[in-house]
Amino acid sequence: MENNTWERFQNAIKADNPEEALRILESEGHLMPERKAEAEEIVKKHKKRKVKIDQQALMDAAMRDDCSGFCLACGAENYGIEADGTKGECEECGERKVVGAARLLGIV
Ligand SMILES: [Zn+2]
Repeated sequence: MENNTWERFQNAIKADNPEEALRILESEGHLMPERKAEAEEIVKKHKKRKVKIDQQALMDAAMRDDCSGFCLACGAENYGIEADGTKGECEECGERKVVGAARLLGIV
């Protein structure tokens, strides 16, 4: 029974759905406390890794066509990025994961 819950939890994480993973945890009362703590840690990490880029800001940047890009690591808006660039260095976090706005929207 417990393995089943754990498996479903892992599947939800793999499917990039931490909300569903949490729901599975909460609806099943028989997980061992250590496992539950471990699971919550995984969900937390997963959420942190998932960066939300402001869709409105992204659209605006693409419309302006002024070499704006967004960092896939932290979500920060960067400037001086080629429209189809994919490896710009982020001014915010230093990762080379800045992608041009138009590229992100699939325009170029
Ligand atoms: Zn960044």
